[in-house]
Amino acid sequence: MLSKRARDVKPSPTLAIDAKAKALKAAGVDIVNFGVGEPDFDTPENVKDAAVRALREGFTKYTPAGGTDALKDAIAAKLKKDNGLEYSRDEIVVSCGAKHSLYNAAQALFGPGDEVIVPAPYWVSYPDQILLNDATPVIVKTSEADGFVLLPEAFEAAVTPRTKALILNSPSNPTGSAYDRKALERVADVACRRNVFVISDEIYEKLVYDGAEHASIASLSKEMRERTLVVNGLSKSHAMTGWRIGYAAGPKPVIKAMTDIQSQSTSNPNSIAQKAAVEALAGPQDSVAAMRTEFDARRRFLVDALNSLPGLSCRTPNGAFYAFPNCSRLYGKRAGDRKIAGSSDLAIYFLEEARVALVPGSAFGDGAFVRLSYATSMENVKKGVERIREALSRLA
Ligand code: PMP
Ligand code: GLU
Repeated sequence: MLSKRARDVKPSPTLAIDAKAKALKAAGVDIVNFGVGEPDFDTPENVKDAAVRALREGFTKYTPAGGTDALKDAIAAKLKKDNGLEYSRDEIVVSCGAKHSLYNAAQALFGPGDEVIVPAPYWVSYPDQILLNDATPVIVKTSEADGFVLLPEAFEAAVTPRTKALILNSPSNPTGSAYDRKALERVADVACRRNVFVISDEIYEKLVYDGAEHASIASLSKEMRERTLVVNGLSKSHAMTGWRIGYAAGPKPVIKAMTDIQSQSTSNPNSIAQKAAVEALAGPQDSVAAMRTEFDARRRFLVDALNSLPGLSCRTPNGAFYAFPNCSRLYGKRAGDRKIAGSSDLAIYFLEEARVALVPGSAFGDGAFVRLSYATSMENVKKGVERIREALSRLA
């Protein structure tokens, strides 16, 4: 009965683990949830107030399918101020989350026979979105030793006449790596020489640490601007995961196609959330900085703690809110009848025996690792680490 695409698609593993952790919690099990990448902070008050005002004013009707002019203008101003990029309204589309922008981009750009280069470890939805649009993901491994950054030689070796695009994600989910300008320039050089379009997912832009500075690959040159679709959103920067507002900026024909696809599928993103998003982008930004400071403190604590645990080693990520420790030294160990053969076994072991939810690296294309989201309180981070320590002491 089901289409091939429906038979092939996998549910998002990150959302699946979150659902499992939340179900256990609802059943009264005290779970520490390092699973999902969702800020634990509340949406800033000024943003919520803007939504309440929108409701009261009756801003509850359809808007243009690709978003309101007011929000597009706020996005254009943000892209100019933060990224040095200039876009007009018809070069911007507002979607129901960055995930939706990425999906619409895949719909607009990919088809049978196309190859799309995805550096691994990758965010879970990229390969499935490519497959859902009948194209082929070409996974290019990056290494821990190189800071999980895509090297130009590896990128270039993966380019074929069928290559349609590269999906770049900096700062990265799951590795937490933020590319520096030099690394971006090397990628851009290959993209320009080999005529590869770049989808640049910059949703963790506001979360960089240790003096790292976010740069958009689109801002490196006029040519890169013409061959890049910048994707961003409010979920991570403004703790607005549930509001479902994301956006894309890029060449007019791509934006028009994405907007038309949207007009035939979801219509506009939620009108009230769009008003709130204008306030999030144009209003005071102090809550963004405050959240970043708190994430940074947790990052430092968690990475140090993970490195103090037997069998784990964790490089210090300079972006996003994920720690990505290497666990491969634990593989082959046992706890009673249970054998830990890889990252899935380890994640199940921690969930069942330590009441700690985290995501196996296999979900991101590298089973040597697991991902812990530190978008949870410092108290939980400390509690979770102690539980992991105790569970590890039972492995032999
Ligand atoms: N890209 C990456 C790398 C992410 O981690 C997320 C978070 N789920 C998204 C895109 C999508 O975010 P949203 O749809 O909530 O805007
Ligand atoms: N991006 C988050 C994560 O990786 C949210 C889950 C999802 O959208 O898949 O955990």
